[in-house]
Amino acid sequence: MKPDVEIYDTTLRDGSQGEGINFSVADKLRVAEKLDAFGLHYIEGGWPGSNPKDIEFFAQAKRRRFKRARLAAFGSTRRKQVAIESDDQVRLLLEAGTPVVTIFGKTWLLHVQEVLGTTPEENLAMIGDTVRFLKDHGKFVIYDAEHAFDGFKDDPEYALATWEAAEHAGADIVTLCDTNGGSLPAEVARITAAAKGKLTCRIGIHTHNDIGLGVANALAALEVGARHVQGTINGYGERTGNCNLTSVIPNVALKLKKTCVPASSLAKLRELSQFVDEIANFRHDPRQPWVGATAFAHKGGMHVNAVQKVARSFEHIDPARVGNRRRVLVSDLAGRSNIVMKAQELGFPITHDTPELKAILGRIKELEHLGYEFEAAEASLALLIRKILKHEEPPFRVDTYHVSMRRDSEESVVEATVKVRVGDQVAHTVAEGDGPVNALDSALRAALLRFFPHIKKVRLTDYKVRILESSTGTAARTRVLIETSDGKDEWGTVGVNENIIEASLQALVDSVEYALMRK
Ligand SMILES: [Zn+2]
Repeated sequence: MKPDVEIYDTTLRDGSQGEGINFSVADKLRVAEKLDAFGLHYIEGGWPGSNPKDIEFFAQAKRRRFKRARLAAFGSTRRKQVAIESDDQVRLLLEAGTPVVTIFGKTWLLHVQEVLGTTPEENLAMIGDTVRFLKDHGKFVIYDAEHAFDGFKDDPEYALATWEAAEHAGADIVTLCDTNGGSLPAEVARITAAAKGKLTCRIGIHTHNDIGLGVANALAALEVGARHVQGTINGYGERTGNCNLTSVIPNVALKLKKTCVPASSLAKLRELSQFVDEIANFRHDPRQPWVGATAFAHKGGMHVNAVQKVARSFEHIDPARVGNRRRVLVSDLAGRSNIVMKAQELGFPITHDTPELKAILGRIKELEHLGYEFEAAEASLALLIRKILKHEEPPFRVDTYHVSMRRDSEESVVEATVKVRVGDQVAHTVAEGDGPVNALDSALRAALLRFFPHIKKVRLTDYKVRILESSTGTAARTRVLIETSDGKDEWGTVGVNENIIEASLQALVDSVEYALMRK
C-alpha cells in the first residue's frame, strides 16, 4: 500500500555538505542500511559525477539488498549545448546502477541567464532531454526544481514551464526546492498549490532551514497536496541545514495523521537519530525536538506535580511514541515531587511517605549548593539515593592516590598510582596516560579489574570540565562531568572540587561504582 507521504533521505548527499561531516564509504553504507531498516522510501546515496567516493559507494551498494528503500543517485541536467549521449555526468548517473535517479535543473531565469549563461529555451531542452533519456533507460526519475520558489516569485509562467518540461518528458516526481531556504510557509503553500493545479505527477518538497522554517515549509507543502518530502536525519546540511526528517516524520504521522513510515518504526526514531549522530561523530543535541534528551524533561516543583498526575497536561504526545522518555530534572527548583519521580524512574521504590526522602532531598540541595549538577549525572544521583536508602558499604574504596608529571626534551610522561581496598584486600597499581585523568582512570581500572573482571567493557567516552564561579574569598571550584559506556548503555557522573584531579577522581569512582551496581 502506498503511503500518503513518501520520505526521501538525502543525509548522505545534501546532508554531507554540512560543516564537520565527512562520511567514509563504510559510514555511508552503514547509514543506508539503517535508513532502509527504519523504513524510509528513498535513500539518496550521493552524486557520482562529483566525486570518486560516491562512485565507490554505488559500486558497493549494488552488491547489497535493500528491503524497502530504493536507492537514488543524484546529478544535474545535461550541460548546455551538449548532446545527452555525450554528457559524462549523465553517463555516470546510469552507471551508478540505482533504480532511482534524481536530477536537478533550473527554475529561476536569473540563474538560467546569469549562472548557466544560456537561453530560457535551452534550459527547457536540457530538462526535457535529461528526464527523457533517463526514462528511456528504465529509471524512476525525480526532478528537483532548484530555486523553485524564488524562480516562481520572479516569473511564474517560466517556472511552471520548467516543471511541465520535466513532467512531459516523463518525470515521476517533480520536487519543488527552496534552495536558499528563505521562503515563508504561506508562500510555499501558495506556490505548491499552483504547481498542483498544473501538474498531474506526484509533487515533492525539498527545503532548507536558513530562517528556521525548514520543517514548517515542508509541512506547508504537504498540507496542500505534496506527497513526497526530502530532508536529512537531524537536519544535517549546508549552512543551517536541511529540513529535519527527525521532526518531519513524527509531524506527518502524529500531527497531520498521514501514513508515511511503518507504524512500528516511529518508536525507533530517537535511536535512528542517535545512530546517525554517532556515525557523523556529533554529540546528540539534547534540545532537538521530539528526540532530544530534554524534549520531554520537566523542571520546577508545581509543574512536575502536574505531569505526574496527568502526563497529558504538559506533554504534546506520549514520549514513548518516538522512542523518547519523560525525564525529571533535579535542581534547586526541585520539590519533593521531582525527587520522588526521579527516584522511581531510576528504579527505587520511593513514595512521598518514604522516611529517607527528607535526608535525600537535604543531601541533593547541599551538593547542588557546592556546584554539583545532576541533570547530566544521573548515575551519581542514583548512587546517592542508594547510599541513603540502603545503608550499604561501597564496593571499593580508594585509600590513596598519586599523580605526577615529568617532561624532558624528548617527551612528557604522566603517571598515576592508586591504592584500592575491596573488603580486606588491597590492590596497588600504577599506570601511565596521555594526561592526569587518563592515567588515573587507567590505574583505577587496572586495580579494580582483578576484583571485578566484568568492568573490562566499561570505558570513559567523554569528559567535560567547567570552572564554577568563585564567590568572594573562596577558590574557584571545578566541576567534572564524565560519560561512561559499557557498549550498550551510557551514564553520566559528576565530581566537584577546588582541585581538578580530585573532582575527576570522584566522577571516575562514581562511574565504576555505578557499573558495579547495575551488573
Ligand atoms: Zn538541498
